[in-house]
Amino acid sequence: MAERLEGSCRCGAVRFAVESHTPYPYQLCYCSICRKTAGGGGFAINLMGDAATLEVRGRDALEIYRAEIADGEGHCRTGSGERNFCGRCASALWLFDPHWPELVHPFASAIDTPLPKPPSKVHLMLRFKAPWVVPEIGPDDEMAQDYPKLSIEEWHRARGLWID
Ligand SMILES: [Zn+2]
Ligand SMILES: [Zn+2]
Repeated sequence: MAERLEGSCRCGAVRFAVESHTPYPYQLCYCSICRKTAGGGGFAINLMGDAATLEVRGRDALEIYRAEIADGEGHCRTGSGERNFCGRCASALWLFDPHWPELVHPFASAIDTPLPKPPSKVHLMLRFKAPWVVPEIGPDDEMAQDYPKLSIEEWHRARGLWID
């Protein structure tokens, strides 16, 4: 059985639940978007769930932010990722990208049900981290300047942590 994750925003206007095969909060994203919109420690922690199982209460309070992303040649494009947040209290809730419609990526910070402790972590998008952020790298942790080698599914499967 996949794990049912339940989450909410700080003010309670939005509550949600989603089934996840990959509930370990191991992926710390230091990109400037996560850091500014969700990253209390200089990073945000992305989970992954099955979009088809997403239940939302209080949808009228939801707002969506699509970040502009520089392409490195002086231009910006608006990213396809839809960052869902509460329009009343501004809590970051989940990321949904129409290019991967079967997935939804809740932020661990919004989840209220207990999550399992990850045996190790992956620190990603380190080239975008703020200078004041000193990552706490554990002995088995992985560091990536951009995207990590393994997908969230692959990381869980490689460790026997995928939940059917
Ligand atoms: Zn709220
Ligand atoms: Zn990020």
